Amino acid sequence: MAYFDHAATTPVRPEAVAAMLPFLTEHFGNPSGSHAVARRAKEALEDARDEVAAALGCAAREVVFTSGGTEADNLAVAGVVGRSGGVAVCPATEHHAVLHTVTAVGGRVVGVDAEGVVDLGELEAALAPRDVSVVSVMLANNEVGTVPPLADVVELVRRVAPAARVHTDAVQAFPWLDVAALAAGADLVSVSAHKFGGPKGVGALVVREGTKVAPILHGGGQEQERRSGTHNLAGIVGMAAAMTATVSSRDETVARVAALRDRLLDGILAAVPDAVETGTRTSKVAGNAHLRFPGVESESLLFLLDDAGVCASAGSACASGALEPSHVLTAMGVPADEARGSLRLSLGVTTTDADVDLAVKAVADVVTRLRSGGSS
Ligand code: PLP
Repeated sequence: MAYFDHAATTPVRPEAVAAMLPFLTEHFGNPSGSHAVARRAKEALEDARDEVAAALGCAAREVVFTSGGTEADNLAVAGVVGRSGGVAVCPATEHHAVLHTVTAVGGRVVGVDAEGVVDLGELEAALAPRDVSVVSVMLANNEVGTVPPLADVVELVRRVAPAARVHTDAVQAFPWLDVAALAAGADLVSVSAHKFGGPKGVGALVVREGTKVAPILHGGGQEQERRSGTHNLAGIVGMAAAMTATVSSRDETVARVAALRDRLLDGILAAVPDAVETGTRTSKVAGNAHLRFPGVESESLLFLLDDAGVCASAGSACASGALEPSHVLTAMGVPADEARGSLRLSLGVTTTDADVDLAVKAVADVVTRLRSGGSS
């Protein structure tokens, strides 16, 4: 089987499993207590916080542990609006964790260009009423992999709406990009462990000094009153280990996976000449390959690829598994009939040459079969 859905989730790294095990067994304490077992847990929590802060280029006190990327995004957007009032703004290609939060708090959504990158002219117009408190622009898109110029967004916001905070969803960026450097100008940064070899259900939001968020979860007052709830200590420790492993091998991984991705795309485009590649490879993260096959339905394509041993996706996975036309491709101006034939093959640390060979052959065979009228 060839797994090409790393943007949905990744296998847990051995380093993360090893780091987590003691906290699922003998070191089971609740870090909020005061006795010896709790103190051991608290020590591990703060060590993990230091490790996460180092990987994200922030101070330890700026790290807020969350249940994942969705909660981090919600806390960033709803937290700033809840604390300071004002309006939230984001581009139309954000993950629903941002997009739906922005619309839920009555915010504004701005357009993007054909690569899915925020239109800076539209963003400037959206900032003009001077009522904006938070602008959220992702560091890498989860469907098509494009990377917007975040530094330009930060510069624009500081110039036009100096009171507004900038949030970046770095959930898909972390495996591939130096998030510490690229997001250095952002006030709030979201990450999610399961996208880079950590466990599911844990993430973090960087809340820089001077930025205030109202909590969205109320309770015991953990995380300096910013996120209540007993810490998922094993998850947090696993995330920290996965982060360190990711950062230390990132350059090598990016070079190796980008070459595999290029071979994958070139192989498919040679076999299916009318396939359309989405986005410019040099402005995308290394692990993303996105294609459209005119006249083919993603649902049938994915079904037959699964049968052929290739795990892929049409774009973002949603809980229902239903394949609706992608809001990202729609915002990029891709015609609906073409968007319906989309395929995302997302690579990761464990992707091999043999996986690429299998996927090229399977995609070519399946598309030919579907076009000749066969479905299964
Ligand atoms: N943001 C982006 C860009 C994502 O790709 C995802 C997950 O696919 C999320 C947020 C949500 O993260 P989580 O699955 O940890 O809730």
